[in-house]
Order: sequence, then C-alpha cells, then structure tokens
Amino acid sequence: MERKVLITGVAGFLGSQLARDLLAEGCVVVGIDNLSSGKITNIKGLPEDRFIFKEMDVCSRKILEDSDFTTVGEIYHLASAASPKYYQASPFDTINTNTIGTKNMLELAKRNQAKIVYSSTSEAYGDPEVHPQPETYKGNVNTWGPRACYDEAKRLGEVFCYLYFTQYQTKVKVARIFNTYSAGLANDDGRVISSFVIQALKGEDITVYGNGTQTRSFCYVTDTLNGLKLLMKKDEANGEIINIGNPIEYPIIDLAHLVKTLTNSKSNITFHPLPEDDPKVRRPVIEKAQNLLGWMPNVTLEEGLQMTIQEYKNKLKDNP
Ligand code: NAD
Ligand code: UDP
Repeated sequence: MERKVLITGVAGFLGSQLARDLLAEGCVVVGIDNLSSGKITNIKGLPEDRFIFKEMDVCSRKILEDSDFTTVGEIYHLASAASPKYYQASPFDTINTNTIGTKNMLELAKRNQAKIVYSSTSEAYGDPEVHPQPETYKGNVNTWGPRACYDEAKRLGEVFCYLYFTQYQTKVKVARIFNTYSAGLANDDGRVISSFVIQALKGEDITVYGNGTQTRSFCYVTDTLNGLKLLMKKDEANGEIINIGNPIEYPIIDLAHLVKTLTNSKSNITFHPLPEDDPKVRRPVIEKAQNLLGWMPNVTLEEGLQMTIQEYKNKLKDNP
C-alpha cells in the first residue's frame, strides 16, 4: 500500500533531506512550510507526481479539513526555527509553532489514526547540571532569557504529545535531537558548523563565542534522519521520548581548529562574547535509542566535516 507522509518544515534543513529520502523509498510526500527560515530552493526538482508542497503555517486549522492532509498515515512534525539566530528573531512565532502548531499536528494524527514524530530538542535540558543527559533528566531551563522561547516551547510541545498519547492513545514519538549538521544548512543559517566552515573557506575570521570551552555533540544528518525514520517505524517507541544524537563531545574551540585544519584555511580564530544562557556542555546518553530502535550514529565528526566541507566548496563555486 502507498505510504503517504506529511513533513512539516519541509523546506528546512532536515525536512528537505527527509523528503528526498522518503521519495526515494517510494512514498508520497506532502510538505508544509511557511518559508520563514527554510528556502524554496531546498525542495526544487522533487518529483511533482509524488511531492505536494503547500506554503502554509502549521498553526492553520485548514490543515484539519484539507484532503491532502486528512489522508496521511505518517507525520514528521519538523516545523520550527532551530537556529538561535532565527528563533530569537521571531520568538512569538517560535512559541506558536511548537505549541499551537504541535497541537494541530497531533489533532490531525488523532483524527487520521496516523503515527507522528515530534522533533523536540536537546535544548529541553537547558544548561544541564547532569552530564551526559539521559531522557530521565528533567533539565535546567531559564524561563527569563533569550533561549526560553525555543526551549520552553519545545517542552510544552512535548506536554501536548504526552497528553495526546495518554488521553487519546495517539501514536506519538518524541525525538530530542542534538546538534545535527551537513552542508544542507544554509550558508547564513548561523549555527556553528555552517558558520565555521563558510568562514574558513572564505578566509574570514572564525568566530568563537566565549572562550570556546563550551561543548556540543555533533551528529551527521544521515544518522539523525535514520534515527527519526526508525522512531516512526517502531511501535515500541509510541509514547516515548528518545535522544537522537552523537555521544562524542567536542569543545567549540577544538571544532574551530579542526575546521581550520581540514579546510587548510588561513583564517584567524577570533573570540566574541558568549551569548546569554549558552549551555556549557551537551552530550546525549543514547542507550534508549540503541535498545528500543537498534540505532546508533556511525559518521564521525571528521568524516562528516570532510563531506560538509566538500559540498560547501561546490556550493560556493556555483554561488560565491
Ligand atoms: P530549519 O530552520 O532549517 O527548518 C525548519 C523549517 O520549518 C523551515 O523551513 C521553516 O521555514 C519552517 N517553519 C517554521 N515555522 C513554521 C510554521 N509555523 N509553519 C510552517 N513551517 C514553519 O531547522 P532544522 O534544523 O531543519 O530543524 C527541523 C526541526 O528539528 C525543528 O523543529 C528543530 O527545532 C528540530 N531540531 C533540529 C536540530 C538540528 O540540529 N538541526 C536540533 C534539535 C532540534
Ligand atoms: N558558536 C560559536 N560561533 C558561532 C556560532 C555558534 O562559537 O559563530 C557556539 C555557540 O555559542 C554554542 C555552539 O557554538 O556554544 C553551538 O551553537 P549553535 O548555534 O550551532 O547551536 P546551539 O547553541 O543551539 O547548540
């Protein structure tokens, strides 16, 4: 039987790559995006007979009535600005998308008896006091700061998932995604890997915030998407929150040096003020994903960066 899948945030980094993967697997894909941080060029050239794009907001109630949506059996709810640059520029939209928009998508899943994967985030742990972070850690999030609109909205999005699972048995699964990258991140996305690689390739200063001792754990896009697809597939994951991330942790200053070395760049590494509430450490415990999904990442940072650098080089050649 034909698999009809809805992807919200389809013109974004993860959504557009996921659409390509699912189309290659033979699915019919319906995509929604309001093009706030995503780009229409990301979904150019997808097969028109099996890909339907709707430029609209996930908060729109029309989604619950339109037959393009009321016939989908799987929903990947990825819509939401993800880069601090974007989610802080439109904080109220960030909140609405992850709360009202998430409730809307859950309602659609309930009515369709569809499966739904919600893309939550490692930011649900805030600036963690438990390290590394298992799913059972309840987090250390500041409500009174520039990251709150994203962190708290994602946490409330998870609450909606919990309520739809417990009250209506909706087949919902929550992915807490840790920093994911590839050259699919727009050059001007503002997240650290796209910024450092583009800066290094252009010979511009590599801008480290703070002294660079803060850490992140970087997961290559193919690994993250495999995790999301397994979540969708496995019934054992219904009603579960699962970390999807690479457990190898790097200080940001080490990332800057690694990018500089791998690009053979003459860029200087410069230091700038650390943004408010920037988490000091972040590393996932992934035992739950291993046990429940049989998932673990297998692309190392060096391998992922090599691919990323090569692709950005090609992109810059076409569009300097
Ligand atoms: P992205 O910004 O590249 O893509 C998000 C897409 O959602 C964009 O195309 C944007 O235009 C669209 N969008 C935003 N608000 C919308 C709305 N109200 N209605 C319709 N479309 C809307 O981000 P991404 O990196 O692809 O992230 C996808 C999802 O994964 C997000 O929910 C994000 O919070 C989550 N996530 C990503 C990462 C990561 O490292 N990439 C980490 C944790 C969580
Ligand atoms: N960062 C940096 N320079 C940049 C962009 C980001 O040093 O040009 C740092 C940022 O302060 C944070 C880390 O890199 O400590 C990851 O930032 P990103 O915005 O990619 O993701 P998040 O903070 O949401 O994990």
